[in-house]
Amino acid sequence: MPNVYLLLGGNLGERKTFLQLAREAITQQVGSVISSSRLYETAAWGKTDQPNFLNQVLQVQTTLSPEHVLQAINFIENELGRTRLEHWGARLIDIDILFYDDLVLQTQRLTIPHPQLHLRKFTLLPLVEVAPDMVHPVLHKNIHQLLEHCPDALEVWEFQE
Ligand code: ADP
Ligand code: MG
Repeated sequence: MPNVYLLLGGNLGERKTFLQLAREAITQQVGSVISSSRLYETAAWGKTDQPNFLNQVLQVQTTLSPEHVLQAINFIENELGRTRLEHWGARLIDIDILFYDDLVLQTQRLTIPHPQLHLRKFTLLPLVEVAPDMVHPVLHKNIHQLLEHCPDALEVWEFQE
């Protein structure tokens, strides 16, 4: 069964609760969560006058195609009341597809692997917990190596209650 790696993030309201609700919805609508990272906190990327983000990576076994995974996560984002205020802006929950097995896909709606995953420490730090040896099918480096070479200077730390 294919493995899809999802990045969850949010910076509004009860951030941890939204991650938990997203995880429950993912279990019901995408597939079984077989591995999950700890929670990481980051200062907002790109646009800094907003609350810190919480991020988590989930590995999910799914029978859905990539397009149907995207449909499902868009549905879950809307269901959880996401407000798309502005680009890089605050949001209740954002769910991105990082990898879908070793598939390389580029359509108008979907780019896999996620085009920014190797540039962001808030993605690589939770991802390295879940899939350290996974090789990026375009860059041909594993997650450890991507993290080592990541130029992102933004601080990321483990979330403490
Ligand atoms: P961002 O995640 O960059 O902050 P959005 O969540 O608003 O922005 O996503 C905008 C669009 O990006 C989505 O509607 C989706 O069609 C597209 N997209 C392209 N590739 C991916 C991917 N790998 N995962 C999630 N969305 C993607
Ligand atoms: Mg998104």
